[in-house]
Amino acid sequence: MLELNKIEEFAPLCLSCLGRAFGKVGFGLDNRERGLEILNQLEIKEGSNLQERLIAQEIDCSLCDGLISEISNFRDLVIDSFSDFSISSFKIGTVVDKDILSREIEFQLQFGENTGEALKSQLNREIGISVYKKLGIEAKMDNPDAVAIIDTGYDIVNLEIKSLFIEGNYNKYDRTVPQTRWPCHSCRGVGCAKCNNTGQLYPDSVQSLIAHPFTIESSCSEDLFHGMGREDIDAAMLGDGRPFVLELRMPKNRDLDLQKIGKKVNVDNKDRVQASELKFVPRSRVAELKNTVCDKTYRVDVSISDEISIESLKKGAQRLSSTVIEQRTPTRVSHRRADLVRPRLVNSVDVVSFVDGMAELVIRAQHGTYIRELVSGDDGRTVPSLASLIDAKCKVEVLDVLNLHLQEKEEKND
Ligand SMILES: [Zn+2]
Ligand SMILES: [Zn+2]
Repeated sequence: MLELNKIEEFAPLCLSCLGRAFGKVGFGLDNRERGLEILNQLEIKEGSNLQERLIAQEIDCSLCDGLISEISNFRDLVIDSFSDFSISSFKIGTVVDKDILSREIEFQLQFGENTGEALKSQLNREIGISVYKKLGIEAKMDNPDAVAIIDTGYDIVNLEIKSLFIEGNYNKYDRTVPQTRWPCHSCRGVGCAKCNNTGQLYPDSVQSLIAHPFTIESSCSEDLFHGMGREDIDAAMLGDGRPFVLELRMPKNRDLDLQKIGKKVNVDNKDRVQASELKFVPRSRVAELKNTVCDKTYRVDVSISDEISIESLKKGAQRLSSTVIEQRTPTRVSHRRADLVRPRLVNSVDVVSFVDGMAELVIRAQHGTYIRELVSGDDGRTVPSLASLIDAKCKVEVLDVLNLHLQEKEEKND
């Protein structure tokens, strides 16, 4: 099994590189001990000429090019890269020069058994153990807080820190803020005279108001806001609020007191934006949220410019209830949505009041229903509509989301 001249072709080797090629030799041995065992089996005496030709110090090994000797150096690089972050688990990866890897494969193929361990695997394992011994944090393959990829050719550590995901519900009472940050069109977020050098089209958003204390407490590099759908800028979000997940990227501090930070959000943004039900969630919640659709109930103030009686308004509202309407994409959104005719179920339309040409309605409809157009008819693009049924000009003046019916989820059908 062991042919001396084949080993000699690749010499000098460090004991690890020799032992690593023979994964089956010995039980419970590490690669260095395994290397010694191989020398033993070949009856190569310590200090003999042959031993000196075959075996080198780790730093002079021609197979790993000295990488095994650098394990403590790599450990220190990793520990240094971790120093700004509070993490409780990690994983090590290595990038190794292609020539070294192909030479190792060539060497291991000489012995045909394919039971050897890869150089990268030894590096990852031994650096990992070494980091664990120094820092006492857990090495974990599955979903660790930090992944350190060491580029062994350049002594650089590329660090990936797992984002924090915080789910909650938000209410919006301020009808001037968009849900997410909205970069200025003119400068694309860089900052210019038009946007007062803020880079933003709107000074605040639900995202910026909620995220602010979280970004400070976590010292993250960036925040992302994933809402379960969104309301119009000028619509309030009332009732139990709308689910969202706030993502904090590269957080330095992972140990956040969500209740305390949530309270700060709510005190600082009284009468504007509130956050509730905050909890940590896994990344998978973002996709789940994006794929969840539900009926919604709206409160709308409608101006009706033709003289009609409350009876005919109520009759029109009743005829719209439990009706499938056909909505062609409104012109106001046609620049970002395909021009299609979509059937939508209107569950109910209730008239709350009708005074001086202003009606207050509560409308429950299937997800994706354009409520303004359901009321106005959108020049015949929504059929039927409240306007067509009562034969009067109708316009939504104020629109609020009262409730998302998450308990009674419907099948996603678009
Ligand atoms: Zn070596
Ligand atoms: Zn700008």
